[in-house]
Amino acid sequence: MPKFFIDPSALSVGDGGQQQVTIEGADAHHLARVLRAKPGDRITVTDGQGNLYAVELTTVTPETVRGAVRQAGPDHTEPAVKITLFQSILKGEKMDWVLQKGTEIGITAFVPFLSARTIARPAPHQFVKKQERWQKIVAAAAKQSGRGLIPTVHPVTVWPEIPLKLAGQFTLVAWEGETTCSLRQALSARPGLAAAQVVIGPEGGFTSDEVAALVHHGAVAVSLGPRILRAETAGPLTAGLLLYHYGALEPVPSTLPSNGK
Ligand code: SAH
Repeated sequence: MPKFFIDPSALSVGDGGQQQVTIEGADAHHLARVLRAKPGDRITVTDGQGNLYAVELTTVTPETVRGAVRQAGPDHTEPAVKITLFQSILKGEKMDWVLQKGTEIGITAFVPFLSARTIARPAPHQFVKKQERWQKIVAAAAKQSGRGLIPTVHPVTVWPEIPLKLAGQFTLVAWEGETTCSLRQALSARPGLAAAQVVIGPEGGFTSDEVAALVHHGAVAVSLGPRILRAETAGPLTAGLLLYHYGALEPVPSTLPSNGK
């Protein structure tokens, strides 16, 4: 059974002081109709805030699923280093791919943006629709991959604001024109990092002015090696390498007993 996300408000104290969970909407339908869950089955739910619950189902209908919390514990699936990927919007499915793979790998937030050479340029009136669609892709990937939270897709941002948004946080800009600093070097200088921002350009790359503006606002330009990667490869690769570097790709013991499914 997959892990289900619940809003903390879905937890309540039932008769006899037992904590219980109420699941409605699409997840209830999925449990009842697709997974054919039955009372007595166990599922795992996360509140998206770092807590995991083993829940024994008591009522299953396509509208409402209720269950009793049998065990609670910390959800260790979230990496200690929080990565925000600033990704210049990519054409067609490439952007979806970055969001999906980035979520599986462990990125915490995404900032889609338009820079000088961005090819896929939604009009401002489409920004919210795009953001909503991307947020759905991320939510589906988070559920599929057993994340402890659903990453945030921030509103589409137009270039001049991007360097200003770095706000003093450790930031890497992957730039194929960087000839000295490797990712390894940049990370070695920062042990025990808690958060990192990664900025990746569009298919056509960044202009040198854009890289200069990012560096001016504190970003560190890094090379990902002597080969030119496709724009959709660079973000997920950098996120994976960052997590590996900080030990966030190690297995963690499950805090809750498996439900045998
Ligand atoms: N248009 C450029 C390549 C752009 S690749 C060219 O043809 O020369 C798209 C994005 O991926 C870049 O903006 C950069 O962020 C990242 N990228 C690709 N290869 C890279 C490398 N070897 N080192 C650092 N960043 C890279």
